[in-house]
Amino acid sequence: MSVAPAPTVGLGDRFARELAELALPWQAEEAPAPRLLVLNEPLATELGIDPGWLRGPDGIGLLTGTVVPAGATPVAQAYSGHQFGGYSPRLGDGRALLLGELSGDDGGLRDLHLKGSGRTPFARGGDGLAAVGPMLREYVVSEAMHALGIPTTRSLSVVATGRQVRRETVLPGAVLARVASSHLRVGSFQYARATGDVDLLRRLADHAISRHHPEAARAERPYLALFEAVLSAQASLVARWMLVGFVHGVMNTDNMTISGETIDYGPCAFLDAYDPETVYSSIDQGGRYRYSNQPLAAEWNLARLVEALLPLLHEDEEQAVALAVAALQGFRPRYEAARTAGMRAKLGLPGTVDDGEVSALVEDLLALLARDHVDLTSFFRALGSAARGDAEPTRLLFLDLAAIDAWTARWQELGPDAAAMDRVNPVYIPRNHLVEEALDAATAGDLGPLERLLDAVSAPYDERPGLERYAGPAPKGFGAYRTFCGT
Ligand code: AMP
Ligand code: MG
Repeated sequence: MSVAPAPTVGLGDRFARELAELALPWQAEEAPAPRLLVLNEPLATELGIDPGWLRGPDGIGLLTGTVVPAGATPVAQAYSGHQFGGYSPRLGDGRALLLGELSGDDGGLRDLHLKGSGRTPFARGGDGLAAVGPMLREYVVSEAMHALGIPTTRSLSVVATGRQVRRETVLPGAVLARVASSHLRVGSFQYARATGDVDLLRRLADHAISRHHPEAARAERPYLALFEAVLSAQASLVARWMLVGFVHGVMNTDNMTISGETIDYGPCAFLDAYDPETVYSSIDQGGRYRYSNQPLAAEWNLARLVEALLPLLHEDEEQAVALAVAALQGFRPRYEAARTAGMRAKLGLPGTVDDGEVSALVEDLLALLARDHVDLTSFFRALGSAARGDAEPTRLLFLDLAAIDAWTARWQELGPDAAAMDRVNPVYIPRNHLVEEALDAATAGDLGPLERLLDAVSAPYDERPGLERYAGPAPKGFGAYRTFCGT
C-alpha cells in the first residue's frame, strides 16, 4: 500500500476511532493489472472527487484500496449475523474494507467502501475476491434502485484487477467501490451485544443515532427511538421493494442496514411475471427470502435488532422486553401504510379515495396479475394509457379479458391521474435477461451492453425512442431465472 502524494480525497476515520472494537485496520491486496471498467462520474462529482483524477493511477489506486490518502485508516468491520435464520457470531468483512468517511457539504458522512479487495481476518474459507460479473451486477442494480428513488448504497466504480478468481470456472477479478451513509448493520449490533460490553453497545447506538437518526437523541428514550426510527426506515424500504418487484434474495441480519438503505446486491433480481412466491437465489431452498416473505423477513430481523438493544432500553429486563415487543408491533401498520400509499400512487388515485378501497382494488388486481402471469412493470406502466382512455395496452397482457375489463372500469371510476402515474411507474428496470446479457458481454470484454443498460435504468421513468428492448419482458426462451450468492 502506498500513500497518495496529494490530499485529493479527505477520508475520515470516525468509525475506526469511535468503535475500535469493531474495526480491524487492514489493507487491500495489490491489483496486478488494474483497469477501470466503469466510473460513476456524477456520483464522484457529487462527492467532491474529480472524475479525471479517479481515472488516473492514484485514483485507480484509491478505487482498489492500494493507494490511500494520508491519515486514512482502512478497516475490516466486525459484525455477526443470522444467515437464513442460523446465527453466525463472527462474520465481518471477509473481502471488503471501509476506506473511511467522506464529508458532505451538509456535514453528513458517507462511507467509502471496497468489495473484493482481498482476504481479511474475517475471510474464513473465502478467497477475499470478487468477480467482474457480480460486482457489475451490484453496480447496475444499485444505480437502478437509486434512480427509482429507493434508498440504497451507491456504486462509484468497478475496477478489473487483472487477477483471476476461481469459481465454477476461472473468472476475471474486480473491486467494487461503493458509497453508503454507513455500513452499520443489524449484525453490527448483534456483534456488540454478544461481546457483553454494554459500553460498546451504547457507543455503537450513539454513533448510529448521530449519523442516521439524530432526532432520536432528543427523545425520552433515545435507544428505543433509535429502534423505532430503524423500524420505520425498513418498513418503508421493504414497501418500496415490493412496489417495484425487487427481490433482495439474502435478507440476513448482516445485510440489513441501520440507515434504511438497501445493501449487498448478491442474488437479487426483479420480478417479471407477477408471482408472489418467486425465489431466485439458488441457495434459498425453503424460500425464506421469496418475494412475498420480505416484509416478514424484515420484521424478523428487526426483532433480532431490538433483542440486541435490550440492555439499553431499560435496566429492568422485563420492562425492556415489554418496550421492545410494543415497538416491534409498529412494523406491520407502518409497512402497510407505506405500501398502500405507494400503491395509491402507482394507481394514480387521489387522496379522496380511502385506504380500504385502495387496498381492495390492489388485492383484486394482484390476484389477476398472478393468475395470468402478467409482467408487473409492463402492467403498471401500460396502466397510464388506460388512465388516458386507451385500455388496449393493458388488455393485451391478460388472458381473462372480462376480469381485467371489470377491474379497469372500477378503477377508472375513481379518477386516476395518468401523468402522476408516469412519474412513479418505471418503464425501465434492470430486467434479469438484460443484466445477464450485459454481465456476460462485460466478462468477455465488451462493455457496450452494460453501458446501454445503465443508460436506460438511470432514467427509469423517462420513456425514450430506441430503448424498446429495455422495456419488455424476457424472451420466451430465457426460462426460469437463478441467482447466486457470495461470488
Ligand atoms: P454476503 O452474503 O455476500 O453479504 O456475505 C456474507 C459473509 O461472507 C460476509 O462476512 C462476507 O464478508 C463473507 N464473504 C462472502 N464472500 C467472500 C469471499 N469470497 N471471501 C471472503 N469472505 C467472503
Ligand atoms: Mg453482506
